Amino acid sequence: METCPKCNSLLRISETTLTFENDNTPLLPTKAYYEHKMVCINPECDQYAGEDLNNPIVVVGTIKNKVN
Ligand SMILES: [Zn+2]
Repeated sequence: METCPKCNSLLRISETTLTFENDNTPLLPTKAYYEHKMVCINPECDQYAGEDLNNPIVVVGTIKNKVN
């Protein structure tokens, strides 16, 4: 689990999007990834995402997970 680099709180997933790699070439196998936007939900932190997690003010980081 990822933690905030500023306040060490656990980060929450704000938004997950599906992205593809190699989908523009037939020579390589297409790979699908979930990209998770990670946000800090600590109101004391200056990286705080704000009240609306679906529309965060600050995104701390992104995690990419391969779709099986
Ligand atoms: Zn934080």
